[in-house]
Amino acid sequence: MSKKRMTQDEWGAEMRKRFGEDPMQWKFICPVCARVQSIQEFKDSGAPETAVGFSCIGRWLEGKQYQEKGDDNTNGCNYAGGGLFRLNPLVVVSPDGEQEVFDFAPEVPDATPE
Ligand SMILES: [Zn+2]
Repeated sequence: MSKKRMTQDEWGAEMRKRFGEDPMQWKFICPVCARVQSIQEFKDSGAPETAVGFSCIGRWLEGKQYQEKGDDNTNGCNYAGGGLFRLNPLVVVSPDGEQEVFDFAPEVPDATPE
């Protein structure tokens, strides 16, 4: 599986375009369960900063369990980006190195219209 590479600036610009200026509202989609998860939600869940956009938020939510893509995946799954199966589709390149991250969540219909 080929991964898309982008710089941190390009990544931030894409997030901003989709979700606005507030990074807390930037959203990812889990490559395993397809649950959409915002940076705010990671913060609220008590997940470490290193998990944001890297491991599924399901790992820090109550009632976590593995769910197949397409399920009503309210709680996400237990996917960890650093595990054996490295499914995160994006590679963000920064001065600190490279980080594999979740894809951007799709723009949501109730977001501010263009
Ligand atoms: Zn997941």
